[in-house]
Amino acid sequence: MKSRQTQKIAVLGSTGSVGQQALEVMGRFPGRYELSVLTAQNNAGRLIRQALKYKPEAVVIANPVHYEDVRTALNHTSVKVYAGKDAIDNITSLSGTDTVITAMTGISGLTPTLNAVKLGKKILLANKESLVAAGGLITREAVRNNATILPVDSEHSAIQQCLIGEDDKAVEKIYLTASGGPFWGMNREELLHVSKKEALQHPTWDMGDKISIDSATMMNKGLEMIEAKWLFDLSPHQIDVVIHPQSIIHSMVKFHDGSIKAQMGMPDMKHPIQYALNYPDRLPYDLPRFQADQMTELSLGPIRKGDFPCLDLAKEALQQGGSMPCVVNAANEAAVDAFLNDRIPFLSIGDVISECMQKTNVPEADTIEEILNLDARVKTLAEEIIKTFSCGSR
Ligand code: MG
Repeated sequence: MKSRQTQKIAVLGSTGSVGQQALEVMGRFPGRYELSVLTAQNNAGRLIRQALKYKPEAVVIANPVHYEDVRTALNHTSVKVYAGKDAIDNITSLSGTDTVITAMTGISGLTPTLNAVKLGKKILLANKESLVAAGGLITREAVRNNATILPVDSEHSAIQQCLIGEDDKAVEKIYLTASGGPFWGMNREELLHVSKKEALQHPTWDMGDKISIDSATMMNKGLEMIEAKWLFDLSPHQIDVVIHPQSIIHSMVKFHDGSIKAQMGMPDMKHPIQYALNYPDRLPYDLPRFQADQMTELSLGPIRKGDFPCLDLAKEALQQGGSMPCVVNAANEAAVDAFLNDRIPFLSIGDVISECMQKTNVPEADTIEEILNLDARVKTLAEEIIKTFSCGSR
């Protein structure tokens, strides 16, 4: 009989969409996992409830304003409570953690991800921004420290599953599938007036706010192209995107004999989460099944240049390489934040990113300090651009 080891797991960003679903998946396999750490940015209430339910060794609340509330609520338990950015960055070194799920949003995921990589942990990567901004650094350190990076993103999980048993050199191309988001097929005139509420309503996936907006602009797919380059060591010309509105085919790999493998299933993040958690094993899991005999249509279609300006910008950054993906990521974070705070309209997200790309003198940023500096510099520039939009001078 195969020995079953208990994996000790840290969930960074446990109160977000992926974090909550990861806890749900773990809860379905009692005895397999032990929680070492849960962290949250601001959602103290949910972090407290999770700590009381799952009894991790420690919790970290990034925003120190909430420290007293969390500490008081967990006073009668053995859960250690920490606060602040430094605690988040270094928490994976604290307590014999085997596996780190990076489910936080944005560049704040970079330092904790890199630190976990340097400790040779198994990383379940759901924070795509860290790989987009610092793919070279992270993959290099992963090799050096024998860290394993497993994708949680459904598209990359699909690619990974298609590649099992295959020679990497036989890969001609990968196709990441995109549902098209809530605004597929709408023209620029119609997009001028879309609301935040409409942008947050994804047709097939249930996700957090930032990634939902990224899906509406299709920047999400652009970031995923850059992520794929690093995860699977591909050249830009080997990475393509196709529209697939049903979100059943999660991605495809074309091999040099012309054969294509696709991975399919229901659009539910719990699938890729549990696959990564138990990789390379597949455990029986009673999630709703895709019923092939009841599906009347699975369609695929091209995305043309100009359909989604943000996707075009991300492709440009992928082609250009160097630190340009870091610039695009930073500008996008700032622009999406401004849109979510009603400071700029939907279509201006792409304009802010484009202007940041043009106006940034892009250095070779290769260390963590250089990358974080560049990120901060681009966000300052983006803020200046956003102000001119908000003042109505455009
Ligand atoms: Mg995805």
